[in-house]
Amino acid sequence: MSANLINGNEISKAVNAETAAEVAEIVAKYGVRPALAVILVGEDPASQVYVSRKDKKCAELGIRSEKIVLPADTTEAELLAIIAKLNADPSIHGILVQSPVPKQIDEQKVVLAIDPAKDVDCFHPFNVGRMMLGDFSGFLPCTPWGVTVLLERSGVVTRGKNAVVLGRSNIVGKPMAAMLAAKAPFGDATVTVCHSHTRDLAAVTLQADIIVAALGIPRFLKGDQVKEGAVIIDVGINRIPDPTAKNGCRLVGDVDFDSVVEKASLITPVPGGVGPMTIAMLMKNTLRACRAALKTA
Ligand code: NDP
Repeated sequence: MSANLINGNEISKAVNAETAAEVAEIVAKYGVRPALAVILVGEDPASQVYVSRKDKKCAELGIRSEKIVLPADTTEAELLAIIAKLNADPSIHGILVQSPVPKQIDEQKVVLAIDPAKDVDCFHPFNVGRMMLGDFSGFLPCTPWGVTVLLERSGVVTRGKNAVVLGRSNIVGKPMAAMLAAKAPFGDATVTVCHSHTRDLAAVTLQADIIVAALGIPRFLKGDQVKEGAVIIDVGINRIPDPTAKNGCRLVGDVDFDSVVEKASLITPVPGGVGPMTIAMLMKNTLRACRAALKTA
């Protein structure tokens, strides 16, 4: 079997068009424009790219974006003071601090400092807990939510399927597993989570109807670890050296695309798969924040 591609660019375009229409409706009806504050501390080049993409997407969809760039030596107290100001500002609906932050800043303190009502990354324990308890009407974690939308809009039924999530991070693996196992239209799967202590990983992945790979290891999952006809979602974004590329490197996922494509029924490419969905769902969370503030949700 040679797989069909799940086109994240196309699907995210459709999601973004829906968001833009809703934004226009809110502006027309209430005279309020959804607004997202994005804070970048330091000069990490990948973070700069992510922040400018988010900024650009906001502009495209009619969301007001307030980009706050702080020097790398910003203290934790300074950052927390800025967050407190944004928490108190009713014209700001969502707040995001781009990760990673410099080492003098405790990331967990930052997560806890953001008002849960403005936590559009869905990192605050209140929002994570709400989602874990089966309330999906609030903020949802952007990348896992994006994966569920990719699956739904590609016609993949998760109910009763064996799903394997590779990775157990707080931002991808854990919430992904929770969403796939949830009693919900995008869930009802039987989910196994693999991590660095999993023994005989291939024995697990070979049982999977759906695999979500989020490890951060370039081309980790190989074709001989995948069942014929499986659906493969590659969350990984890894920069590897490539002397033929203009900038000397290129992006690959956590899936060895060339071997897995021969076994899968559907597969996401990297780039152009999960990546654009993460931003699309961030925009949706910002919309949800604004609606909740307007009490129109
Ligand atoms: P983390 O580094 O936080 O987590 C990686 C996970 O992989 C850990 O749970 C780790 O296990 C597990 N792991 C490591 N080695 C193995 C192994 N040999 N076998 C099985 N499991 C293993 O990564 P993230 O979740 O933050 O990110 C994962 C990937 O997704 C990265 O490439 C990242 O760039 C990408 N990403 C992409 C996004 C997008 O929008 N497309 C958004 C966020 C991330 P253990 O817990 O035991 O250490």
